[in-house]
Amino acid sequence: MSSKTSTLLDPSTALEHLKTYDHSDGLSIQELMDSRVHGGLTYNDFLLLPGKIDFPASDVVTESRVTRNVVLRTPFMSSPMDTVTEGDMAIALALLGGLGIIHHNQSPASQAAMVRAVKRHENGFISDPVVLSPSHTVADVLDIKARLGFCGIPITDTGMVGGKLVGIVTSRDVQFRNPSTSLSDVMVTDLVTASQGITLLEANDILRDSKKGKLPIVDSNGHLITLLARSDLLKNQSYPLASKNPITKQLYAAASVGTRLSDRERLALLVEAGLDIVVLDSSQGNSIFQIDMIRYIKEKYPELEVIAGNVVTREQAASLIASGADGLRVGMGSGSICITQEVMAVGRPQATAVYAVSEFSNKFGVPVIADGGISNIGHIVKALTLGASAVMMGGLLAGTEEAPGEYFYHEGKRVKAYRGMGSLEAMEQGKPGSPPQTKVNGVHTGSNKYPSPKKDRTLENAATSRYFSEDSAVKVAQGVSGDVQDKGSVKAFIPYLYTGIQHSFQEIGVMNIQQLREVVRNGQVRFELRTASAQVEGGVHGLNS
Ligand code: GDP
Ligand code: GDP
Ligand code: 5GP
Repeated sequence: MSSKTSTLLDPSTALEHLKTYDHSDGLSIQELMDSRVHGGLTYNDFLLLPGKIDFPASDVVTESRVTRNVVLRTPFMSSPMDTVTEGDMAIALALLGGLGIIHHNQSPASQAAMVRAVKRHENGFISDPVVLSPSHTVADVLDIKARLGFCGIPITDTGMVGGKLVGIVTSRDVQFRNPSTSLSDVMVTDLVTASQGITLLEANDILRDSKKGKLPIVDSNGHLITLLARSDLLKNQSYPLASKNPITKQLYAAASVGTRLSDRERLALLVEAGLDIVVLDSSQGNSIFQIDMIRYIKEKYPELEVIAGNVVTREQAASLIASGADGLRVGMGSGSICITQEVMAVGRPQATAVYAVSEFSNKFGVPVIADGGISNIGHIVKALTLGASAVMMGGLLAGTEEAPGEYFYHEGKRVKAYRGMGSLEAMEQGKPGSPPQTKVNGVHTGSNKYPSPKKDRTLENAATSRYFSEDSAVKVAQGVSGDVQDKGSVKAFIPYLYTGIQHSFQEIGVMNIQQLREVVRNGQVRFELRTASAQVEGGVHGLNS
């Protein structure tokens, strides 16, 4: 006994003793991701080793640059898929600090209407408020309420911005009134206004103190210039992480387009509607079509951020970076509904793809979005660890209230449809005559605001162009169709993912994404490969029920 204890080291020297080892536990990222040794890896093939906790999880911030010029406070994006992202999803995600990419398997007009709805949802100064004249009627106000969702309308003598402000109508002024009543009979004329040139902060103070719902801003002659809404102050308070333009306070709007010539017309409509970020939607981004499109956009719309892709290799990335891409979407065949790797024999395991492309493109300041194959919080953290700035999710956000489509029951479960954009069903959806699915803010297509798809070639080829098969007589599906379970609202689901990431970062011992990058690069964060049995061990096992 005594001879044994004499060989033991003094516990107080444990930290010192660590330094006598020539390497730390586990593998560095470079060792882990050497595909010549381990092959291509997926998120499930490895784990991070825990670090040291010396801060509360709530101190973790997940701010991240997702294109050269756009920073999000949460690294969540939704896929441009017709069962995932339309106006409702884009608005909800932007409010929660992420970004929804509005799909283009619909007419350019209805996609542009969704972009417009995102841009109108929250404002600082409302630059082009809807205005009526005293001779308009209560019915006109009710119509605006039905189409646009608000009914606080300034009244000017001309019925336009720039006319003399003579009154305002709000919901209570038109409630219980005969629709044919003139607005001159119901409008309020005792107005609180502010003068042109006032700052947003000063105007907000007047709005708060006045206890009114709206604050019209007028010039020295009493002509209407702009408008402020009290509800925007509440939105700002309720959604402190929202993704918005720091000056206009409008939410960022993002949408996808293809890379054919007709997509330039679609893009023009989207830009006119206020688009901030465009995603060039292609399963194989390294094509002359995409390179031409990036150059065209950078020349014609220098303010527009371009996310190019998809890519999975450094070589593909280099082409798109050199052409001017502001961000890259990474993933080929890793999506939950994808069959590309099986059918086309091309693709790359997602963890390796994200690491390889990020390692290269981050050197040029071009952020990477890890697209596809995200099915839990751990996958998100791993994607960020591998160098991605954000994750793009399809299946994980499908089945939420904000995803397009209605719920139905399948084998006793409440579900929504979810399908690959390369599935036969999605390729059919874009065809003229197929039913529109569009619904924004509870308003269905068919109204003036969200016109139904027209018969045009742009629409016919929207889904097929992603897979370069618009000209093929025989369509080869690269995706499948199914359904996913009801997940409730993203307004509860995204905060769950966010809090999960905060706790995961705490386990790793990092407080933000920049710090995570740094300690991964310098070898402080260590990794372990997961054998097949380790994966079984890490899952739920041994339970009777
Ligand atoms: P932060 O407070 O620096 O994080 O930035 P914010 O953008 O949240 O707020 C800056 C100021 O702008 C605050 O006084 C807010 O009240 C105001 N603000 C922020 N968002 C909006 C908005 O959507 N509408 C209006 N009217 N004011 C806003
Ligand atoms: P209202 O009282 O019925 O007008 O509606 P709220 O004030 O509750 O909400 C209006 C929301 O729509 C705010 O977030 C505004 O920024 C936004 N909005 C966008 N464009 C307009 C517009 O032209 N007029 C008004 N009143 N609101 C607009
Ligand atoms: P998920 O989050 O469901 O795992 O993957 C969503 C991603 O899969 C999308 O963002 C997109 O990149 C990709 N995707 C969508 N539809 C298809 C498809 O039909 N085939 C393939 N190969 N990929 C798809």
